[in-house]
Amino acid sequence: MNIIIADKAGFCFGVKRAIRMAYEELEKANGRPVYTLGSLVHNPQVIEKLEDDKIKSIEELDDYPVGHLLIRTHGVSPSTRKRAEELGYKIVDATCPLVKKIHTIVFKLKEWGYKILVIGHSSHPEVEGIVGEVEKDCKVIDSVEDAKSLENYTKLGVVVQTTALWSKFREIAGHLPEKAQECRIFNTICHATIERQDTALKLAKETGVMIIVGGKKSSNTRRLLEICRSVNPNSHQVEYTEELQPEWFHNVEEVGVTAGASTPDHIIRKIVENIKNIGTI
Ligand code: SF4
Repeated sequence: MNIIIADKAGFCFGVKRAIRMAYEELEKANGRPVYTLGSLVHNPQVIEKLEDDKIKSIEELDDYPVGHLLIRTHGVSPSTRKRAEELGYKIVDATCPLVKKIHTIVFKLKEWGYKILVIGHSSHPEVEGIVGEVEKDCKVIDSVEDAKSLENYTKLGVVVQTTALWSKFREIAGHLPEKAQECRIFNTICHATIERQDTALKLAKETGVMIIVGGKKSSNTRRLLEICRSVNPNSHQVEYTEELQPEWFHNVEEVGVTAGASTPDHIIRKIVENIKNIGTI
């Protein structure tokens, strides 16, 4: 059994940067608590390691003694940030620069009088952060049906969640120009996402089984699964080695492996080792 790992798989630069910043802050904190607001990445093993190293993930600002607070790659709304500052937290902003770029775009669009449309999941923290920048001037849509049912606007400015599915974005965006006298569409899907989607799709077409490694809560990992399944029904997402099923590999010569942007290399290696063991059964 031949195992091929996708060229672009695992940690993206935004996640690497955020984890590096968390550990740098731990050194500077001088014993004060260091928190991340929400999980730093959607990967249980990484979160466990951070917690072991005393970098705690918190959901509510009021429940803990104040300390250093890392804003994760998805960013937060200005109101949440302000509240944390008022409570006395020292803010360390690890928002991915590509997410920050979206904040700048929507802020400008608002200034120029555009109705802002975000293509993405309304409950995803990144989208919540973007919406928080512009509040009432913003609408979130997630499907072609949503796009078709939009009212008509004079000026419409569109951005998309960084981890959105490229093909879905194109499909939805195709219906938007007819909804406004002037429509400006910004493709804000990040390069790391596009590269991972492209290489996963290619590999899924060429292999007998496709394994997608990553946290169940990771939006970009779920997108990779969707893409791979569209061309190879024998595609599976695994978070832990125990989830690998020997029957997936029966009569398979080539195995493809990819991983979401929040999956560390050592987890990918562990999964690959376990697949090799299955191959020898
Ligand atoms: S997936 Fe893209 S936008 Fe998100 S953290 Fe990584 S590089 Fe940044």
